[in-house]
Amino acid sequence: MKNVPYRIYLDEKELPKKWYNIQADMPVKCQPALNPQTHKPIGPEELSAIFPMELIKQEVTQERYIDIPEEVQEMYRSFRPAPLCRAYRLEEALGTPAKIYYKYEGTTPSGSHKMNTAIPQVYYNKKEGITRLATETGAGQWGSALSIASQMFGLECMVYMVKVSYEQKPYRKSLMQTYGAKVTPSPSEYTKAGREILKKDPESLGSLGIAISEAVEDAASRKDTSYALGSVLNHVILHQTIIGEEAIKQMEKIDEYPDMVIGCCGGGSNFAGISFPFMRDKIADKRKTRFIAVEPAACPTLTKGKFSYDFGDTAKMAPITMMYTLGHDFVPEGIHAGGLRYHGESPLVSQLYHDGFIEGRSVHQTKVFEAAIQFARAEAILPAPESAHAIQVAIEEAKKCKETGEEKTILFALSGHGHFDLAAYEAYLSGKIGDVEYTDDMLAEGLKCVPSIECPSI
Ligand SMILES: *Cc1c(COP(=O)(O)O)cnc(C)c1O
Repeated sequence: MKNVPYRIYLDEKELPKKWYNIQADMPVKCQPALNPQTHKPIGPEELSAIFPMELIKQEVTQERYIDIPEEVQEMYRSFRPAPLCRAYRLEEALGTPAKIYYKYEGTTPSGSHKMNTAIPQVYYNKKEGITRLATETGAGQWGSALSIASQMFGLECMVYMVKVSYEQKPYRKSLMQTYGAKVTPSPSEYTKAGREILKKDPESLGSLGIAISEAVEDAASRKDTSYALGSVLNHVILHQTIIGEEAIKQMEKIDEYPDMVIGCCGGGSNFAGISFPFMRDKIADKRKTRFIAVEPAACPTLTKGKFSYDFGDTAKMAPITMMYTLGHDFVPEGIHAGGLRYHGESPLVSQLYHDGFIEGRSVHQTKVFEAAIQFARAEAILPAPESAHAIQVAIEEAKKCKETGEEKTILFALSGHGHFDLAAYEAYLSGKIGDVEYTDDMLAEGLKCVPSIECPSI
């Protein structure tokens, strides 16, 4: 018997009852979101065209803790806590003195952390009389989560799925349809934003930025419909803190605390979800934990992008936020980690990165798949390609410990399983995956569309 079990769970009674809002503790607050037309700070009334009031409140509140509604807790209890796992066999394979832990979100009904916010988002919409939700999905993970949550609460769900993913992952579409969602490849003919893109480029692969424009337009044009976003926004990140809050309690049980926390970073929600509850201690100067956000080298938002006000979507319909960006017109290469192909970044993660609380790392996809396969062979879990970005850096850090002999405690977020990503694995295993360089020219080109809005405090 190992002195720490392979998997550490919590009793139902121990499940967190509150989400943690890092806005209360940030030394430098985020800049306000701006109206995409007027460039003035956007008010609750304007946002109410696409979001329910409770989520708008959560977007801006400075309260440190937000109660998780009983109905949401009840749904969470049906699949949480997510296990905290000790990667004994990976440690052994690496020959590292480091202790590696991962928080495995692949045990949710949709197979990723996205269920954690899908449930409260659908719940609050239903409470305010909304009967239909419109959303975008990249890899299909968010669309799946929202389809399932919509079905559980009896709402309709319309999903604009980035075309490259729609073609690479047909089973994701079937999964969403199984739960009653309507799914279209994006750009689509359903919206003005989609039709305009198709007119210019009928072969467009789509992007998250385009799909967001379509879903926002859909929601804004119908009274019965809200828009739902699976990452980036403050309220999404708030809901995801359930991951870190659980992880703290699980680690307390075995008398551990991480020296570093690692997560892959697309819009930033799983990274923030596992990190922010631990970052609370770092901000309060109680701990020196390192936080590492990992992104694809083909879409290096934090490590190469500019900290600037920019649009969240291609058609400039979503609010303008202060964030790291590669430019809202940038369409990343069709890499296999579709969930990490977003030009921007969560404003909360961006501000904390800017202020030095977070390190950024970018990795190439061949390395990522190498790590994914090493992990699968050691730990028996098939990781999502997105999650494998975190694995890659965790392995790298564990190897450094081997060189220095340091017995560090590494915690990473295994944000989802890869059962719907076998086409990507197949491409890798048959030698068809290459690396995509992101060049300075691409950055210069991408930043041309970024609006010049002054931010006095930066
Ligand atoms: C969507 C997704 C991501 C990236 O999104 P974040 O908001 O950055 O967490 C990462 N991993 C998986 C499995 C996903 O589904």
